[in-house]
Amino acid sequence: RQEVVLVGRSNVGKSTLMRELTGHSKFTTGKKPGVTRKPNHFDWAPESFMFTDLPGFGFMSGVEEDRREQIMTDIVRYIEANADDILAGVLVVDGKSVVDIIDRHSGPDEIPHDVEMFHFLRELEIPVVVAVNKMDKVDDEDERLDELCDRLGLMPPWKQWQDTIAPITAKRGNIEPLLSALQNHFHEQKRDDL
Ligand code: GDP
Repeated sequence: RQEVVLVGRSNVGKSTLMRELTGHSKFTTGKKPGVTRKPNHFDWAPESFMFTDLPGFGFMSGVEEDRREQIMTDIVRYIEANADDILAGVLVVDGKSVVDIIDRHSGPDEIPHDVEMFHFLRELEIPVVVAVNKMDKVDDEDERLDELCDRLGLMPPWKQWQDTIAPITAKRGNIEPLLSALQNHFHEQKRDDL
């Protein structure tokens, strides 16, 4: 197991976070929406693994429904094919809008992408950390994070889930909760390997 994958809807701040995690200043944000790229690999010095940035999914203006579904399929296939090498999955969401988006897309035969991705990773036994980004725009943090837990099937309060729910503000470099959640998963796995 040697990579950590980043997944998330487009525009949640995945590239911004990736830059913070890797210090790769030449990494470009504002890439063309909907263009499926090869996963981007970056080495992370403190541990011997890579961060893999997968294409953003969900709504992107000017990108057709078929294309968006194809992106989601490609992401799922990549993760399935590489599951044995994936140390953890970071599901990046926008703290300001994630609960509304989940609620808008929940229905009798509709599962929101974020929820689907969360359960998909867990089914593959890949530890998931939900990086709840843009917390600088959220007023009632605890309430929002509790609602998110509820939507993901985790019993609130969110404070019980600090290895899974990591509120961050990537734009300001405030990503400590994510780093410590990841670190906890790595240590757990090392113990399991003994
Ligand atoms: P990506 O499409 O997921 O890769 O998103 P980007 O990293 O390109 O960011 C999308 C937009 O969100 C940009 O305008 C970023 O400046 C903004 N953004 C990223 N992180 C934060 C954050 O922590 N807080 C706020 N308020 N905006 C952010």
